[in-house]
Amino acid sequence: MADCIFCKIIDGSIPSNKVYEDDKIIAFHDLEPQAPVHVLVVPKQHISCADEIDESNADVIAYIFTKIPQIAKSLGLENGYRIVNNCGDDGCQSVKHIHFHLLGGKKLRGQMS
Ligand code: AMP
Repeated sequence: MADCIFCKIIDGSIPSNKVYEDDKIIAFHDLEPQAPVHVLVVPKQHISCADEIDESNADVIAYIFTKIPQIAKSLGLENGYRIVNNCGDDGCQSVKHIHFHLLGGKKLRGQMS
C-alpha cells in the first residue's frame, strides 16, 4: 500500500528501530512508547485491521502469536507483558495496517478503556 507508513517501514523506505524480522513479520520499537518496553509486531502482508482477518490471511496472524514469546524473551519481558490491538475508529486505531502492541517492563495498570 503506497500510503501506508508500516508498509514503508517494511520496505525500508522509512527507518525503524527493529527488534525482529523474518519473511512474514517485523517488530520494531514504537516511536511514542507507552511503557518501558513498547514494540509493534506487524505482518508484512497489508491487512488493514482485525476486522479484515479471514481464512485467507489468518495464518500470518497465528504466526505472529507463535513469535511473540520469542520476541518478548529477547526484550527481557520475563515477568509478563500485555498484547494490545486497536481496531477501527472506536478502537482508536491510528495506523491502518494491523499491528499488535507488545507492552511491558513494569507492572502495567489494569485499565482497559
Ligand atoms: P494504533 O493507534 O494502535 O494504530 O498504534 C499506532 C502506533 O504506531 C502508535 O503507538 C504510534 O506511536 C506508532 N507509530 C506511528 N508511526 C511510527 C513509526 N514511524 N515508527 C514507530 N512507531 C510508529
